[in-house]
Amino acid sequence: MDFSLDERAEAFRAEVREFLRAHLTDEVRARVAASGTYHDAEFHRAVADRGWIGAAWPVEDGGQGRDRADMDILYEEMAAAGAPVEGLSVTLIIAETIRRAGTPAQKERILRPVREGRLLLSLGYTEPDAGSDLAAARTRAVRDGDGWRIDGQKNFTTHAHEADYVFLLARTDPQAAKHAGLTMFLVPTSAPGFSYAPVHTLSGERTNITYYSGVRVGDDARVGAEGQGWEIVSLALAFERGGEFAAQLRRLVHATVGWAHAAGRTEDTRLLRRLGRVVAATEVSRLLGARATWLRSTAMAGAVEGAMAKVYATEALLRGSGELLDATGADGLLGPDSPGAAADGELQHLYREAQISTLYGGTSEVLRGVVAERRLGLPRSRRR
Ligand SMILES: Cc1cc2nc3c(=O)[nH]c(=O)nc-3n(C[C@H](O)[C@H](O)[C@H](O)COP(=O)(O)OP(=O)(O)OC[C@H]3O[C@@H](n4cnc5c(N)ncnc54)[C@H](O)[C@@H]3O)c2cc1C
Repeated sequence: MDFSLDERAEAFRAEVREFLRAHLTDEVRARVAASGTYHDAEFHRAVADRGWIGAAWPVEDGGQGRDRADMDILYEEMAAAGAPVEGLSVTLIIAETIRRAGTPAQKERILRPVREGRLLLSLGYTEPDAGSDLAAARTRAVRDGDGWRIDGQKNFTTHAHEADYVFLLARTDPQAAKHAGLTMFLVPTSAPGFSYAPVHTLSGERTNITYYSGVRVGDDARVGAEGQGWEIVSLALAFERGGEFAAQLRRLVHATVGWAHAAGRTEDTRLLRRLGRVVAATEVSRLLGARATWLRSTAMAGAVEGAMAKVYATEALLRGSGELLDATGADGLLGPDSPGAAADGELQHLYREAQISTLYGGTSEVLRGVVAERRLGLPRSRRR
Protein backbone atom coordinates (compact mmCIF):
# COMPACT_ATOMS: atom_id res chain seq x y z
CA MET A 1 0.00 0.00 0.00
CA ASP A 2 1.32 3.46 -0.89
CA PHE A 3 0.76 6.08 1.82
CA SER A 4 2.66 8.90 0.10
CA LEU A 5 0.95 12.25 -0.46
CA ASP A 6 0.14 13.84 -3.80
CA GLU A 7 2.59 15.81 -5.96
CA ARG A 8 1.41 19.19 -4.73
CA ALA A 9 1.99 18.20 -1.10
CA GLU A 10 5.42 16.79 -1.93
CA ALA A 11 6.31 20.05 -3.73
CA PHE A 12 5.44 21.91 -0.53
CA ARG A 13 7.65 19.51 1.44
CA ALA A 14 10.52 20.38 -0.89
CA GLU A 15 9.84 24.10 -0.33
CA VAL A 16 9.98 23.60 3.46
CA ARG A 17 13.25 21.67 3.19
CA GLU A 18 14.75 24.46 1.10
CA PHE A 19 13.57 26.99 3.71
CA LEU A 20 15.21 24.96 6.48
CA ARG A 21 18.51 24.79 4.58
CA ALA A 22 18.48 28.60 4.37
CA HIS A 23 17.19 29.49 7.85
CA LEU A 24 18.06 26.65 10.24
CA THR A 25 21.67 27.81 10.38
CA ASP A 26 24.47 26.69 12.69
CA GLU A 27 24.01 29.99 14.56
CA VAL A 28 20.33 29.19 15.24
CA ARG A 29 21.22 25.68 16.43
CA ALA A 30 23.98 27.06 18.66
CA ARG A 31 21.60 29.61 20.23
CA VAL A 32 19.04 26.88 20.94
CA ALA A 33 21.64 24.54 22.44
CA ALA A 34 22.96 27.33 24.68
CA SER A 35 19.57 28.55 25.90
CA GLY A 36 17.77 25.18 26.12
CA THR A 37 14.74 27.02 24.75
CA TYR A 38 13.16 25.45 21.68
CA HIS A 39 12.17 28.83 20.36
CA ASP A 40 14.33 31.22 18.42
CA ALA A 41 12.92 34.69 17.70
CA GLU A 42 14.78 35.12 14.42
CA PHE A 43 13.82 31.71 13.07
CA HIS A 44 10.24 32.21 14.26
CA ARG A 45 9.96 35.50 12.33
CA ALA A 46 11.37 33.86 9.20
CA VAL A 47 8.56 31.26 9.40
CA ALA A 48 6.03 34.09 9.83
CA ASP A 49 7.48 36.02 6.89
CA ARG A 50 6.72 33.02 4.69
CA GLY A 51 3.07 33.32 5.77
CA TRP A 52 3.15 29.86 7.32
CA ILE A 53 1.86 30.73 10.82
CA GLY A 54 -1.90 30.17 11.02
CA ALA A 55 -2.01 29.59 7.28
CA ALA A 56 -4.67 26.87 7.67
CA TRP A 57 -7.08 29.22 9.45
CA PRO A 58 -10.05 30.38 7.44
CA VAL A 59 -9.71 33.66 5.55
CA GLU A 60 -12.16 35.45 7.90
CA ASP A 61 -9.72 34.81 10.77
CA GLY A 62 -6.81 36.14 8.73
CA GLY A 63 -5.60 32.73 7.54
CA GLN A 64 -5.23 31.52 3.97
CA GLY A 65 -7.57 28.55 4.25
CA ARG A 66 -4.57 26.43 3.38
CA ASP A 67 -4.80 22.64 3.38
CA ARG A 68 -4.14 21.25 6.89
CA ALA A 69 -2.00 18.53 5.35
CA ASP A 70 0.44 21.29 4.36
CA MET A 71 0.73 22.36 7.99
CA ASP A 72 1.38 18.75 9.02
CA ILE A 73 4.17 18.61 6.47
CA LEU A 74 5.56 21.91 7.76
CA TYR A 75 5.73 20.69 11.38
CA GLU A 76 6.93 17.24 10.43
CA GLU A 77 9.84 18.63 8.42
CA MET A 78 10.73 21.23 11.04
CA ALA A 79 10.68 18.73 13.89
CA ALA A 80 12.60 16.17 11.84
CA ALA A 81 15.30 18.76 11.18
CA GLY A 82 15.43 19.70 14.88
CA ALA A 83 14.18 23.25 14.24
CA PRO A 84 13.14 25.26 17.33
CA VAL A 85 9.37 25.19 16.87
CA GLU A 86 8.10 24.35 20.34
CA GLY A 87 7.26 28.00 21.06
CA LEU A 88 5.40 28.15 17.79
CA SER A 89 3.48 24.92 18.47
CA VAL A 90 2.39 26.07 21.93
CA THR A 91 1.44 29.51 20.61
CA LEU A 92 -0.71 27.89 17.94
CA ILE A 93 -2.48 25.60 20.44
CA ILE A 94 -3.57 28.69 22.35
CA ALA A 95 -4.30 30.81 19.28
CA GLU A 96 -6.44 27.99 17.85
CA THR A 97 -8.38 27.93 21.14
CA ILE A 98 -8.84 31.72 21.07
CA ARG A 99 -9.95 31.48 17.44
CA ARG A 100 -12.74 29.12 18.48
CA ALA A 101 -13.65 30.35 21.96
CA GLY A 102 -12.33 33.92 22.25
CA THR A 103 -14.25 37.16 21.99
CA PRO A 104 -13.92 39.25 18.78
CA ALA A 105 -11.66 41.66 20.73
CA GLN A 106 -9.39 38.79 21.90
CA LYS A 107 -9.17 37.46 18.35
CA GLU A 108 -8.18 40.94 17.16
CA ARG A 109 -5.56 41.26 19.93
CA ILE A 110 -4.05 37.81 19.54
CA LEU A 111 -4.50 36.28 16.10
CA ARG A 112 -2.89 38.87 13.85
CA PRO A 113 0.31 39.34 15.93
CA VAL A 114 0.57 35.54 16.22
CA ARG A 115 0.36 35.23 12.44
CA GLU A 116 2.98 37.94 12.04
CA GLY A 117 5.36 36.15 14.42
CA ARG A 118 5.23 39.01 16.92
CA LEU A 119 3.49 37.23 19.80
CA LEU A 120 4.55 34.21 21.83
CA LEU A 121 2.15 32.44 24.21
CA SER A 122 2.79 29.90 26.95
CA LEU A 123 0.67 27.30 28.73
CA GLY A 124 0.06 27.74 32.46
CA TYR A 125 -1.86 24.64 33.54
CA THR A 126 0.42 22.52 35.75
CA GLU A 127 0.89 23.26 39.46
CA PRO A 128 2.94 21.54 42.16
CA ASP A 129 -0.14 19.46 43.15
CA ALA A 130 -2.03 19.52 39.85
CA GLY A 131 -0.32 17.84 36.90
CA SER A 132 -2.19 14.90 35.42
CA ASP A 133 -5.10 15.89 37.61
CA LEU A 134 -5.28 19.42 36.18
CA ALA A 135 -8.70 20.10 37.62
CA ALA A 136 -7.07 20.15 41.08
CA ALA A 137 -5.58 23.57 40.18
CA ARG A 138 -5.49 25.91 43.17
CA THR A 139 -4.18 29.15 41.64
CA ARG A 140 -6.89 31.61 42.61
CA ALA A 141 -8.57 34.31 40.54
CA VAL A 142 -10.88 36.53 42.57
CA ARG A 143 -13.17 39.27 41.26
CA ASP A 144 -11.61 42.62 41.99
CA GLY A 145 -13.62 45.63 40.85
CA ASP A 146 -14.12 45.30 37.10
CA GLY A 147 -11.29 42.78 36.77
CA TRP A 148 -9.56 39.93 38.60
CA ARG A 149 -6.76 39.44 41.09
CA ILE A 150 -4.64 36.32 40.60
CA ASP A 151 -2.48 34.56 43.22
CA GLY A 152 -0.72 31.24 42.94
CA GLN A 153 2.08 29.22 41.37
CA LYS A 154 2.47 27.17 38.20
CA ASN A 155 5.16 24.59 37.36
CA PHE A 156 6.65 23.91 33.93
CA THR A 157 5.41 27.11 32.27
CA THR A 158 7.66 26.56 29.27
CA HIS A 159 8.68 29.74 27.36
CA ALA A 160 7.12 31.99 30.02
CA HIS A 161 10.42 33.89 30.29
CA GLU A 162 10.09 35.11 26.71
CA ALA A 163 6.32 34.87 26.12
CA ASP A 164 3.88 37.78 26.01
CA TYR A 165 1.03 35.94 27.78
CA VAL A 166 0.44 32.88 29.93
CA PHE A 167 -2.77 31.00 29.12
CA LEU A 168 -3.67 30.38 32.75
CA LEU A 169 -6.00 27.89 34.39
CA ALA A 170 -7.32 29.38 37.65
CA ARG A 171 -9.86 28.50 40.30
CA THR A 172 -12.58 31.12 40.50
CA ASP A 173 -15.08 29.25 42.67
CA PRO A 174 -13.63 27.03 45.41
CA GLN A 175 -17.15 26.08 46.58
CA ALA A 176 -18.18 24.67 43.18
CA ALA A 177 -17.54 21.06 42.10
CA LYS A 178 -13.88 20.49 41.16
CA HIS A 179 -14.32 20.82 37.39
CA ALA A 180 -16.94 23.56 37.55
CA GLY A 181 -15.02 26.17 39.54
CA LEU A 182 -12.31 26.87 36.96
CA THR A 183 -11.82 29.75 34.50
CA MET A 184 -9.17 30.48 31.85
CA PHE A 185 -7.27 33.76 31.52
CA LEU A 186 -4.69 35.29 29.23
CA VAL A 187 -2.27 36.86 31.72
CA PRO A 188 0.27 39.36 30.31
CA THR A 189 3.79 38.50 31.50
CA SER A 190 4.39 42.25 31.81
CA ALA A 191 1.76 42.51 34.59
CA PRO A 192 3.10 43.62 38.00
CA GLY A 193 3.17 40.65 40.39
CA PHE A 194 4.16 38.13 37.71
CA SER A 195 7.58 36.52 38.05
CA TYR A 196 9.38 33.31 37.10
CA ALA A 197 12.34 31.10 37.97
CA PRO A 198 14.15 28.79 35.52
CA VAL A 199 13.99 24.97 35.64
CA HIS A 200 16.45 22.93 33.57
CA THR A 201 15.42 19.40 32.66
CA LEU A 202 17.42 16.21 32.10
CA SER A 203 17.42 16.88 28.33
CA GLY A 204 18.90 20.36 28.78
CA GLU A 205 15.53 21.99 28.07
CA ARG A 206 14.69 25.17 29.95
CA THR A 207 11.23 25.57 31.41
CA ASN A 208 9.97 27.74 34.32
CA ILE A 209 8.13 27.98 37.59
CA THR A 210 5.82 31.01 37.38
CA TYR A 211 4.50 33.00 40.33
CA TYR A 212 1.38 35.18 40.46
CA SER A 213 1.32 37.52 43.38
CA GLY A 214 -1.64 39.88 43.32
CA VAL A 215 -1.56 40.00 39.51
CA ARG A 216 -4.37 42.27 38.35
CA VAL A 217 -6.02 41.66 34.95
CA GLY A 218 -9.13 43.13 33.35
CA ASP A 219 -12.20 41.05 32.64
CA ASP A 220 -11.18 41.08 28.97
CA ALA A 221 -8.38 38.66 29.98
CA ARG A 222 -10.98 35.97 30.71
CA VAL A 223 -11.28 33.33 27.95
CA GLY A 224 -14.73 31.77 27.87
CA ALA A 225 -17.32 32.22 30.57
CA GLU A 226 -16.59 32.19 34.30
CA GLY A 227 -16.68 28.54 35.39
CA GLN A 228 -16.11 27.29 31.83
CA GLY A 229 -12.37 26.75 32.30
CA TRP A 230 -12.50 22.96 32.12
CA GLU A 231 -14.27 23.06 28.73
CA ILE A 232 -11.75 25.58 27.38
CA VAL A 233 -8.76 23.63 28.64
CA SER A 234 -10.20 20.40 27.19
CA LEU A 235 -10.56 22.14 23.83
CA ALA A 236 -6.94 23.29 23.97
CA LEU A 237 -5.69 19.83 25.10
CA ALA A 238 -7.28 18.26 22.04
CA PHE A 239 -4.98 20.41 19.86
CA GLU A 240 -1.95 19.29 21.85
CA ARG A 241 -2.03 15.53 21.48
CA GLY A 242 -0.77 14.76 18.02
CA GLY A 243 1.82 12.63 16.34
CA GLU A 244 4.64 15.19 16.23
CA PHE A 245 6.92 12.71 17.97
CA ALA A 246 7.05 10.69 14.76
CA ALA A 247 9.30 13.39 13.38
CA GLN A 248 11.67 12.92 16.31
CA LEU A 249 11.83 9.23 15.46
CA ARG A 250 12.83 10.27 11.94
CA ARG A 251 15.61 12.42 13.41
CA LEU A 252 16.76 9.42 15.41
CA VAL A 253 16.90 7.21 12.30
CA HIS A 254 18.64 9.90 10.28
CA ALA A 255 21.26 10.50 12.99
CA THR A 256 21.96 6.76 13.36
CA VAL A 257 22.24 6.17 9.62
CA GLY A 258 24.66 9.13 9.39
CA TRP A 259 26.75 7.63 12.18
CA ALA A 260 26.66 4.11 10.60
CA HIS A 261 28.11 5.53 7.36
CA ALA A 262 30.79 7.53 9.19
CA ALA A 263 31.75 4.58 11.42
CA GLY A 264 31.70 1.99 8.58
CA ARG A 265 28.92 0.00 10.27
CA THR A 266 26.45 -0.23 7.38
CA GLU A 267 26.90 -4.04 7.20
CA ASP A 268 26.31 -4.58 10.92
CA THR A 269 23.22 -6.83 10.95
CA ARG A 270 22.47 -6.26 14.65
CA LEU A 271 22.40 -2.52 14.05
CA LEU A 272 20.34 -2.91 10.87
CA ARG A 273 17.76 -5.06 12.66
CA ARG A 274 17.35 -2.40 15.34
CA LEU A 275 17.18 0.36 12.76
CA GLY A 276 14.54 -1.59 10.86
CA ARG A 277 12.37 -1.81 13.96
CA VAL A 278 12.67 1.93 14.54
CA VAL A 279 11.89 2.74 10.90
CA ALA A 280 8.70 0.62 11.11
CA ALA A 281 7.69 2.35 14.36
CA THR A 282 8.35 5.73 12.74
CA GLU A 283 5.95 4.99 9.91
CA VAL A 284 3.25 3.67 12.28
CA SER A 285 3.67 6.79 14.44
CA ARG A 286 3.40 9.06 11.42
CA LEU A 287 0.18 7.41 10.27
CA LEU A 288 -1.39 7.38 13.76
CA GLY A 289 -0.52 11.09 14.07
CA ALA A 290 -1.94 11.88 10.63
CA ARG A 291 -5.19 10.09 11.52
CA ALA A 292 -5.56 12.09 14.74
CA THR A 293 -4.85 15.36 12.94
CA TRP A 294 -7.33 14.56 10.22
CA LEU A 295 -10.04 13.65 12.74
CA ARG A 296 -9.41 16.88 14.64
CA SER A 297 -9.95 18.87 11.46
CA THR A 298 -13.35 17.22 11.05
CA ALA A 299 -16.24 17.21 13.50
CA MET A 300 -15.03 13.86 14.88
CA ALA A 301 -12.81 15.37 17.62
CA GLY A 302 -9.93 12.87 17.57
CA ALA A 303 -8.95 13.16 21.25
CA VAL A 304 -8.77 9.37 21.73
CA GLU A 305 -6.80 8.92 18.50
CA GLY A 306 -4.46 11.73 19.60
CA ALA A 307 -3.89 9.91 22.89
CA MET A 308 -3.12 6.67 21.04
CA ALA A 309 -0.73 8.43 18.66
CA LYS A 310 1.14 10.14 21.48
CA VAL A 311 1.50 7.00 23.62
CA TYR A 312 2.69 4.92 20.68
CA ALA A 313 5.16 7.45 19.25
CA THR A 314 6.74 8.54 22.55
CA GLU A 315 7.16 4.98 23.78
CA ALA A 316 8.65 3.98 20.43
CA LEU A 317 11.04 6.93 20.80
CA LEU A 318 11.97 5.83 24.31
CA ARG A 319 12.59 2.23 23.22
CA GLY A 320 14.25 3.09 19.92
CA SER A 321 16.60 5.76 21.27
CA GLY A 322 17.77 3.35 23.99
CA GLU A 323 18.39 0.53 21.51
CA LEU A 324 20.22 2.73 19.03
CA LEU A 325 22.28 4.41 21.74
CA ASP A 326 23.40 0.93 22.81
CA ALA A 327 24.29 0.09 19.23
CA THR A 328 26.50 3.17 18.81
CA GLY A 329 28.49 2.41 21.95
CA ALA A 330 30.77 5.06 23.47
CA ASP A 331 30.51 7.37 20.40
CA GLY A 332 26.77 7.76 20.97
CA LEU A 333 27.25 9.00 24.51
CA LEU A 334 29.36 11.99 23.52
CA GLY A 335 27.92 15.51 23.38
CA PRO A 336 28.17 17.84 20.35
CA ASP A 337 31.34 19.52 21.64
CA SER A 338 33.29 16.26 21.97
CA PRO A 339 35.44 15.09 19.05
CA GLY A 340 34.15 11.79 17.62
CA ALA A 341 30.56 12.30 18.85
CA ALA A 342 28.14 10.15 16.88
CA ALA A 343 25.82 12.25 14.71
CA ASP A 344 27.10 15.48 16.32
CA GLY A 345 25.80 14.41 19.72
CA GLU A 346 22.27 14.05 18.42
CA LEU A 347 21.79 10.46 19.65
CA GLN A 348 22.46 11.07 23.33
CA HIS A 349 20.37 14.25 23.13
CA LEU A 350 17.37 12.42 21.62
CA TYR A 351 17.73 9.70 24.25
CA ARG A 352 17.51 12.32 27.02
CA GLU A 353 14.59 14.08 25.32
CA ALA A 354 12.75 10.78 24.96
CA GLN A 355 12.69 10.33 28.76
CA ILE A 356 10.38 13.31 29.25
CA SER A 357 8.32 12.93 26.09
CA THR A 358 6.07 10.39 27.81
CA LEU A 359 5.23 12.98 30.51
CA TYR A 360 4.27 16.31 29.01
CA GLY A 361 1.04 16.69 27.06
CA GLY A 362 -0.41 13.87 29.20
CA THR A 363 1.57 10.95 30.67
CA SER A 364 1.35 7.52 29.03
CA GLU A 365 -0.56 6.11 32.03
CA VAL A 366 -3.15 8.86 31.88
CA LEU A 367 -3.55 8.64 28.10
CA ARG A 368 -3.95 4.86 28.33
CA GLY A 369 -6.75 5.61 30.79
CA VAL A 370 -8.36 7.91 28.18
CA VAL A 371 -8.29 5.12 25.59
CA ALA A 372 -9.56 2.53 28.08
CA GLU A 373 -12.49 4.66 29.21
CA ARG A 374 -13.53 6.44 26.04
CA ARG A 375 -12.80 3.80 23.41
CA LEU A 376 -13.01 0.49 25.24
CA GLY A 377 -15.79 1.59 27.61
CA LEU A 378 -13.91 0.37 30.69
CA PRO A 379 -14.75 1.87 34.08
CA ARG A 380 -12.94 5.02 35.27
CA SER A 381 -9.67 4.04 37.00
CA ARG A 382 -9.80 6.78 39.64
CA ARG A 383 -12.53 8.85 41.18
CA ARG A 384 -12.73 12.49 40.17
C1 LIG B 1 9.76 19.47 29.86
C2 LIG B 1 8.36 19.72 30.31
C3 LIG B 1 7.66 20.78 29.80
C4 LIG B 1 6.36 21.05 30.24
N1 LIG B 1 5.71 22.17 29.76
C5 LIG B 1 4.53 22.50 30.31
C6 LIG B 1 3.90 23.74 29.97
O1 LIG B 1 4.41 24.50 29.14
N2 LIG B 1 2.74 24.08 30.60
C7 LIG B 1 2.16 23.27 31.53
O2 LIG B 1 1.11 23.64 32.07
N3 LIG B 1 2.71 22.07 31.86
C8 LIG B 1 3.89 21.68 31.28
N4 LIG B 1 4.47 20.49 31.64
C9 LIG B 1 3.83 19.67 32.66
C10 LIG B 1 3.35 18.33 32.18
O3 LIG B 1 2.19 18.46 31.40
C11 LIG B 1 3.18 17.49 33.45
O4 LIG B 1 4.47 17.14 33.89
C12 LIG B 1 2.36 16.26 33.22
O5 LIG B 1 1.03 16.60 32.98
C13 LIG B 1 2.42 15.31 34.44
O6 LIG B 1 2.11 15.99 35.61
P1 LIG B 1 3.06 15.87 36.90
O7 LIG B 1 4.47 16.14 36.46
O8 LIG B 1 2.50 16.70 37.99
O9 LIG B 1 3.01 14.34 37.30
P2 LIG B 1 1.84 13.62 38.13
O10 LIG B 1 0.53 13.98 37.54
O11 LIG B 1 2.06 13.89 39.57
O12 LIG B 1 2.12 12.12 37.80
C14 LIG B 1 3.08 11.33 38.51
C15 LIG B 1 2.94 9.89 38.04
O13 LIG B 1 1.62 9.37 38.39
C16 LIG B 1 0.96 8.86 37.24
N5 LIG B 1 -0.47 9.15 37.28
C17 LIG B 1 -1.04 10.35 37.61
N6 LIG B 1 -2.39 10.26 37.49
C18 LIG B 1 -2.67 9.00 37.06
C19 LIG B 1 -3.89 8.31 36.71
N7 LIG B 1 -5.07 8.91 36.79
N8 LIG B 1 -3.77 7.04 36.27
C20 LIG B 1 -2.57 6.42 36.17
N9 LIG B 1 -1.39 7.03 36.50
C21 LIG B 1 -1.44 8.30 36.91
C22 LIG B 1 1.61 9.59 36.06
O14 LIG B 1 1.50 8.87 34.86
C23 LIG B 1 3.06 9.74 36.52
O15 LIG B 1 3.78 8.56 36.23
C24 LIG B 1 5.76 20.19 31.19
C25 LIG B 1 6.46 19.09 31.69
C26 LIG B 1 7.75 18.84 31.26
C27 LIG B 1 8.48 17.66 31.83
